[in-house]
This record gives sequence, C-alpha cells and structure tokens, in this order.
Amino acid sequence: MLERMRTDILILGSGGAGLFAALHALQADPDLDITVASKGLLGKSGCTRMVQGGYNVSLIPGDSVERHFMDTIEGGKWLPNQELAWTLVETAVERVRELENEVGCFFDRNPDGSLHGKAFAGQTFDRTVHKGDLTGIEIINRLMEQVWARPAILRMEEHRAVALIPTKDGQSIAGVLMIDVRTGAFRFVHAKAVLLATGGGPTMYRYHTPSGDKSMDGLAMALRLGLPLRDMEMVQFHPTGVLAGRDTRMTGTIIEEGLRGAGGYLLNGTNERFMFAYDSRGERATRDIVSRAMFEEMRAGRTTPEGGLYISMGHLGPDKVRKQFKGMVERCADCGFDLAGGLVEVVPTAHYLMGGVVCAVDTATELPGLFVAGEDAGGVHGANRLGGNGVVNSTVFGGIAGDVMPGWIKRNPGHREPDEDAITAATAAASHPLTRKPGDINWLRDTLLDLMWEDVGIIRTAESLTRGLKRLDELATELRATGIADTDLAFNLTWHDWLNLENLIEMSKVVAAAALRRENSRGAHYRADFTGEGDLAASTFTVVRKQDARLTLTDEPVHFTLVKPGETLLRKASAAE
Ligand SMILES: Cc1cc2nc3c(=O)[nH]c(=O)nc-3n(C[C@H](O)[C@H](O)[C@H](O)COP(=O)(O)OP(=O)(O)OC[C@H]3O[C@@H](n4cnc5c(N)ncnc54)[C@H](O)[C@@H]3O)c2cc1C
Repeated sequence: MLERMRTDILILGSGGAGLFAALHALQADPDLDITVASKGLLGKSGCTRMVQGGYNVSLIPGDSVERHFMDTIEGGKWLPNQELAWTLVETAVERVRELENEVGCFFDRNPDGSLHGKAFAGQTFDRTVHKGDLTGIEIINRLMEQVWARPAILRMEEHRAVALIPTKDGQSIAGVLMIDVRTGAFRFVHAKAVLLATGGGPTMYRYHTPSGDKSMDGLAMALRLGLPLRDMEMVQFHPTGVLAGRDTRMTGTIIEEGLRGAGGYLLNGTNERFMFAYDSRGERATRDIVSRAMFEEMRAGRTTPEGGLYISMGHLGPDKVRKQFKGMVERCADCGFDLAGGLVEVVPTAHYLMGGVVCAVDTATELPGLFVAGEDAGGVHGANRLGGNGVVNSTVFGGIAGDVMPGWIKRNPGHREPDEDAITAATAAASHPLTRKPGDINWLRDTLLDLMWEDVGIIRTAESLTRGLKRLDELATELRATGIADTDLAFNLTWHDWLNLENLIEMSKVVAAAALRRENSRGAHYRADFTGEGDLAASTFTVVRKQDARLTLTDEPVHFTLVKPGETLLRKASAAE
C-alpha cells in the first residue's frame, strides 16, 4: 500500500548541502513545512562527515577571491561553468563566517587568533581552513545540532528516494516516491519544491572512498526524468587510499597528499620507488599523474600480495612523522598499519564525481520546482576538483538553494497534481527484484567494481570503453533477471543493495559513454589513445540525457564569461560589480 504525506520543501540528503538548505529555507520563511529525508541517519551519512583536509576560502591576508577563482578554473582545466565557480569562491567567504559565528564550528587558529590555512595541492595560496584533519566531523556535527534544535524541520531518516515524480503534464516537479527503509513501505511525499542533495558518489569502482550509502541515486533519478547531466566522464581518483584488504568494503580511508609532499616514498611490491620513471617530480607530481603511474605499476603486476602498493615514511624519522601526521598515523593504526615506521598499503581510489545535473547559479534545474546542490550538481569543478572545494560546494550551494526555494514557492504556490501513472510505474520498478528468482547480488556487484576499474577507470581507450559498455549492458540484463531471497521488506538490505546496483550500473553506462565521447585527456579524464588536452579556447563539455530509453550525448561550448584561457582574472569583471 502506498502511504502519502505533504510538505512544502522536500530536501533529499542530509550532508552539508541538505542541512544548509534546511537551515536557510527555515530562516527565509519560518512558516514553511521543511522535510529532510535521508537514506542514512541525519549527520551520520554521506561524505561531508568524512572531510579530512578542509575548506578552501580566501580570507587570509595576501589571498583573494580572484586567486581562488583562477586556481579553481585552472585546476578544472577550463571546463568549469565560470559563473558557478565565481559564486563558489565568493560565497565561501560569508559561508565560513556563518559556519563559525552561527553554526558553531571552530576551526584551527594561528597563535595570533587568525584562521590557520594549510597548503593543498593545486593551489597558489595556503587557504584550506580546517579542524585538524577531522574537519567534516566538526562541520556536520554542528549542523546536525542546529537542525535538531529546530523541531520545525521534519526529519525522515532512513528513507530512500527512488523516483522524482513530475506533474501529469510533465512541466514541473510534484514530489518524490520514497521507501521507508525501516518498514519497507512506499511513501509518496507531495512537495512544492524539491532539492536533490544526495551527494553523487562514484562507488562503482573496485577501490572507492565515498560513503557506502551513496550510489548515485540522485543522478540516476534525474537521468530517468530526462534531465541533462554534464561532465560525467570526470571521476577524480585520489592516489593514496588505504588498502585494508581486497574483500572489505572499507576502502574510504585516504591518507593525505601532505605525506608525499613531506617526502614520503611510493614503493611497488618489490620495494622499489617507481614515480621517477613516470614524472620528474617523483611522488610530488599531481594527483592524476601519480594515480596513473600507480595504476600502471599495478597493471604490470608489480604489487603487494594484496594487489596494492606501499607508501613509506620511516626514512623521515618515525618520531617526526608521528608528530607531524598524528591523525594519519592513528587512522592507519586503526587499519592495522604503522605509518610512522613501517609500510602502508595504498591504492588509487575513486574519490569524487565532478559531473552532475546541469543547473543555474541559483541551483534551479531545467524542471521547475526541482533544485540541485552539492556533489549532485555539475559544472562547478569542470575536469577536476581542487582538494578543499568539495565541502565549499555543498555548503555554498545548499545555502543558496535554501534561500531560493521559499521565494520560488511564493511565486508558484500550491501542491501540484502528481502523475499517478509515474508513481505506479516507479513502485513497480523498485519492487522488480521481489518478483524474480533469487540470485547472487554480491557477484554482480564485484563484477561491476572490477569492470569499471579495468575498463572505465584511470586509463581509458576507445577499446576499453566500448568493451566496458558492452559488459555493463550484459550486467544490467543479468541484474534484471536476478531477484532477492528475503521478501521481508523491513530493513531489507539485500533489496537496497539491488536498488543501489541498478543505479550504479545505469550511471556507469553514463560515465563510460561520456568518456568515449571525449576524445582528449583533460584533468581527471585520461585517454591513452588521445593524450592531448585539445584546444583550451575551444573547450566543450559533454551533456548526457536519456530519451526514449536511450542515452543521447552532445558537446556544449564552455562560455568564458569571466576569463579566457591565457588570461588571469585580477579583479571581478566590472559588469558584475
Ligand atoms: C574520504 C573523503 C575525504 C574528503 N575530504 C574532503 C576535504 O578535505 N575537503 C573537501 O572540500 N571535500 C572533501 N571530500 C568531498 C566532500 O566530502 C563532498 O564533496 C561533500 O561533503 C558532499 O556533500 P553533499 O552534501 O553533496 O553530500 P553528502 O555529504 O555525501 O551527503 C549525501 C546525503 O544524501 C543521502 N542520500 C544518498 N542517496 C539518497 C537517496 N536515494 N535518498 C535519500 N537520501 C539519499 C545520504 O544518506 C547523505 O545523507 C572528501 C570526501 C571523502 C569521501
């Protein structure tokens, strides 16, 4: 039976984007009903909690918004939407003040009381503010307390969104079909405005860092509704994920780049340093180059017995390492490794998805009433995200969505009639595995992780991508024929694994198709058969849509609205002043 409820604003996801949106929306209009629905527990799910390094903001004397902007554009290899990137860096300044003065965060200080900024790769200024190396816990815990302190914000924890439901005429959003994970019941949430903030999350690779509750659900729902996704080939790999064993799902621990910066060695399975064979900067080369070199070593079989490589710090002096990287040493110890004096097994790891739903600066999507923020949104980072710009993205644009949605509702009042056929079809689609003979979901998942790693991962070619797409089609067919054994729907994790897998396979096809389309190597996307980056001045970004059950791909030109390749933005363009 389908349960129904109503709210004014429905926010999907309780990471930095979702919680900021809720707080801002309530502030903008305290009379609205605001509901935060989350697949996991509020404040305990998603990746905002996992942020280690910190938050980029140009607040420290000597830095400027323009400089942060240029680092973001150059880091993104000229693919970012410049208006989104400008909004990101400009609003970061007020957002970090809000985090400290209103939300209650307290970031690390210099002896004179000013904010401490640490160095992060790819940036020309030490602007990453932080709370030790557990910045995300500080941010999400304080946000969570603020939301808890406002009973007007309704919480639907452990509720999974399965479909965005449009109006009968398809002209706007009417609500979202959810599953209450605790009971297994379907619930239609009728809403005037909906925010998609489910946090992307490329968890379809053998090694990945994002939290396990993320399976690209928001993007899959948007795709099925016909919305455009951009930059979907851009998956960022972090070079040093801790390898806690091949058969564990715990691949989310990364050890920070500062270790390589401080003089750490990367060693292959025969204890040889290999980075200088690939780049004259050795271990200090950029994330993408180091990840590729590591992948090559692994592909050549020069690995540890577990299939990874090593990072070694001991030659710097164990006491020094213990002092300088206290948090990292403790985290590695939790995984059974001695970072200070021994070897830690590491692998390059899928970390972040730059691609996402096409949106405007005010977070509006093509479908009226549907907004998007955080890692679900595309266009901010282009071909690469700077470390420290991820949590800025979610808090800046989550806040903007919260500011904007109440005004949108005022101009478009009332709940709109949902397309009941779409609700029925989505309920049937999500119930599909309950009607099939049980099969081996774990095998399907393992096959997906391996094929994405091998064919659609760090090094791609037309041949590998074409093979990957074919294997993904076969896997999708196999999943459709596979059911689940336990039909008690309360907390049925196998059912949710099936639904996760369905979304991951669908989104993997999108990643592979976009990667096949881009015949050059930019940022995170590397084609061994097209190694050049192409003409920056004629940059285009990929756009994928699903129409009549088929993916269609186009290339859209990047509009250099603030700065062109070869130029530097010294101050904000006068038109915007
Ligand atoms: C290990 C690690 C370290 C990182 N370190 C940094 C760093 O130092 N600096 C930085 O800037 N960035 C960092 N990032 C990236 C950063 O964490 C993310 O970019 C950012 O937090 C994403 O915020 P979000 O609000 O979009 O999504 P998230 O915080 O991931 O939240 C997503 C929410 O959506 C919910 N959800 C998912 N699917 C559904 C569904 N179907 N229905 C309902 N709810 C759903 C989840 O349960 C969760 O509540 C790191 C990421 C990782 C994994």
